[in-house]
Amino acid sequence: MNAPALLDLSDERDQWERLCAAVYRDGYQAAGTAHQDDYERGLVDGALARKRAQHDLVEMARLDVARWGPAGREHFADPRAGDFAGGAEAIERARQAWLRAGLSLGPGPGWAHLGGRFVHGNPGGHRPCTPACYACEPGWYRTADAIAILETLPGDYAGAIAELRRELITAAA
Ligand SMILES: [Zn+2]
Repeated sequence: MNAPALLDLSDERDQWERLCAAVYRDGYQAAGTAHQDDYERGLVDGALARKRAQHDLVEMARLDVARWGPAGREHFADPRAGDFAGGAEAIERARQAWLRAGLSLGPGPGWAHLGGRFVHGNPGGHRPCTPACYACEPGWYRTADAIAILETLPGDYAGAIAELRRELITAAA
């Protein structure tokens, strides 16, 4: 190879090298431009996710206290101040609270109150309801009538019926 040919070849190689460097630089800059906000966006997303998680935790704690009381689920059934303790004084307090709330205390001994279909979905009630349930209006019934109605309902009222029978026997004695 003579000197002019060698110089031409060298120029061509230099040109290739410049082109390669330019393409690399362009690509690097394009990538930098495309992702220039990524770090800040990632940081903001992370901070927001952390904040959301904190809010969720606070809300979960609030719901837990509202649901189970301040000592948590394990102590939900613990005795609390103001629990009904029974006794004549406590019954009188309950009577006064009923009267203050505008509730009827009923005609007195010999009568029983049935909650009607409104209580059937509650714990201790039953479901599904039957036509007998829907026919039972809430209100005060003579003890014997209340027993007869309870016997037609689909729930488990054996305990309530037995208690009303005892009342009937006590009243008759
Ligand atoms: Zn029912």
